[in-house]
Amino acid sequence: MKTILITLMLILTPFFTMDNSTGAKNKNYQCTKCKTVIQSDHTPSSYNCRAGGTHNWQDLGAVGNENYNCTKCGTVVQSEKTPVSYGCPEKGTHNWSHLGHIGNNTYQCKKCGITITGDRTPSSYNCMSGGTHQWNKLN
Ligand SMILES: [Zn+2]
Ligand SMILES: [Zn+2]
Ligand SMILES: [Zn+2]
Repeated sequence: MKTILITLMLILTPFFTMDNSTGAKNKNYQCTKCKTVIQSDHTPSSYNCRAGGTHNWQDLGAVGNENYNCTKCGTVVQSEKTPVSYGCPEKGTHNWSHLGHIGNNTYQCKKCGITITGDRTPSSYNCMSGGTHQWNKLN
């Protein structure tokens, strides 16, 4: 009986492991002190924040195929839906603007300097330098 149980566990273990790896979704984490954004499936290490002391990571939600730009702090994230608004490094909540799908072209705004990848020219609304973005296709 014991042997059967062990054999059964050995057969099932790879399935559980596989399930875990596909189930773990990357999230965007941003440090509210130094503004760094990284994609990870767990809270990143807090050591050595560029702004001094330890990073203060804020979970911004699941990574996805849409570009969002905060018009207050300038952060750009690739998210599946509007990112979490808590913890804008510029105080209060983020002010997310949807810039379109991610793609193979790189665009930079001549005014605010953010660079994003898109399948076509990103939305021009809400440039953080005021007015509309002025997109320049880099490749
Ligand atoms: Zn930091
Ligand atoms: Zn912000
Ligand atoms: Zn801009």
